[in-house]
Amino acid sequence: MEGSVIMGKIVYIDLTEGKIIEKEKDFTDYGRGLVTRIIREEVPPKTDRLEDENIIVLAPGLFSGTLAPSTGRLIVGTKRSKDEGIQFSNLAGTISQKLASLNIDALVLMGKGTGDIPITILVEDEGVSLNRVQDIKGLEVSPTIDKVSNLFGKKCGIIGIGPAGENLLPISTLFSTYPEGNPSFYCARNSIGDVFGYKGIKAICVKTKNHFHGPQYDENRMKDISKKVSRIIIDHPICGEALPGLGSITLMKMLKDGKNIDLSQMDCKENKKDTIVSDFKINKTCSPLCVIGCLNRHAKTDEDYYTSPAESEAFAALNEAFGIDDEQYVRDFTKRCFELGIDCIEFIFSASLYFSLQGIKGSIYEMDKALDEVENLTLLGRVLGSKTTGIYTLFRDKDEYKSMVTKPSISEEDNFNIDIQSKTIDLPNLSDLDYLYAYMMALESFGFCLFSSFAFIENEEALTLLSKMYYYKTGTKASEKDILEYALETLEVEKKYEEEAKIESADKSIPEFVKVLYRYFHKN
Ligand code: SF4
Repeated sequence: MEGSVIMGKIVYIDLTEGKIIEKEKDFTDYGRGLVTRIIREEVPPKTDRLEDENIIVLAPGLFSGTLAPSTGRLIVGTKRSKDEGIQFSNLAGTISQKLASLNIDALVLMGKGTGDIPITILVEDEGVSLNRVQDIKGLEVSPTIDKVSNLFGKKCGIIGIGPAGENLLPISTLFSTYPEGNPSFYCARNSIGDVFGYKGIKAICVKTKNHFHGPQYDENRMKDISKKVSRIIIDHPICGEALPGLGSITLMKMLKDGKNIDLSQMDCKENKKDTIVSDFKINKTCSPLCVIGCLNRHAKTDEDYYTSPAESEAFAALNEAFGIDDEQYVRDFTKRCFELGIDCIEFIFSASLYFSLQGIKGSIYEMDKALDEVENLTLLGRVLGSKTTGIYTLFRDKDEYKSMVTKPSISEEDNFNIDIQSKTIDLPNLSDLDYLYAYMMALESFGFCLFSSFAFIENEEALTLLSKMYYYKTGTKASEKDILEYALETLEVEKKYEEEAKIESADKSIPEFVKVLYRYFHKN
């Protein structure tokens, strides 16, 4: 049954004054485009990262909160630094679907909370409230989640920071809770824990047990078309076999071998079978209704589940940097980083740079010592917590180490010749590379996990289905062309905003995941 055109709402939270204002909105902007629009409206381009004028915007993908498969992603944005544009983070977990189920299209965190106890924001049917939870300050991530869920209920979706974010370390990141089960949370890559810490926010808790209650113009047709889209994802060899069978090791292989990974040698189907191994549920997806489910298909005991796709990346990075191949150590290391609320991959790169500069041979012992320094917030811990960029700033005379500084994914663009074999529409003057960027951005704004992009980008029918889904969700029409053009426009607006802030030339900010897609769609 068709309803009336859907209107959403934006909730502005003024942390300085403790005021909350709700504004109704239409769907002219959504997802990442909405985050960009709000930051451009509210934050002067020269604002620094840790300034009261900076804001944080959290927006569920447009299809989050519906039965559209694998759409549990939340887009978080903030001003990156005084002379840079917007930093985006794409968070897994349950919070996106829960926010969307409360018909919230964006939460905007403004100003700065003060006081001894950091703020926990509660979002529920009755409205939004700012709370001071006793003894939460300085807690690691697991006890923070326990405290918040004991207080507000087990069905909450929670994001927030550990001690590293409270101490404003640049390497700090956001945690996000998975559905009930183990592992119970993960920490995102490249996120913004320090800005949460600066604003005096410890956690955001969304209290509703619903995941699919977002308002929709035509719920029945949305449900039907979601089944078709699920089939497209599941029928793709990467999304339907390799990722669920092998987890994100698939992506590691792709980073090395591009599209040419040999799936015939992998017993993906066998690994796909669920194994009930213990008296608790081992999470196989980050959020409900992810039809890929790349987590823990391998798990056979309660000891061998992964905390997140980041764990296999950590294994590869520790192995490559220091020859560490002890799986149990990698598991413990990742969990320890996650408890502090830090980006474990960036921490490995940072330690690797620091060890090279100091002539230290990297090992399990040295890595543990380095993490101790961060945990104890020593001077060295603060240096290691300043990421590769911060460390290299102290050693700028040593040019030979510059290549170890983490670079934005876009810096690899020139090394690839992107060839999209089949497209739904051919827009004049749109290169295959720009088609790839536009499609990725559109999927991100719709809330899809970008692991699904393998199935979508070369499928001739998929973009048309997405255009129909847009209509069934919002009640307004957006053609295939409109969808791609909106994504490209969003990129242009972001670039313009960055130009207004920058001293040097500005560039596009494309999700990190493009590194895998560059290799997948590269033609020799
Ligand atoms: S594909 Fe993997 S990383 Fe993406 S939402 Fe599903 S389980 Fe999470």
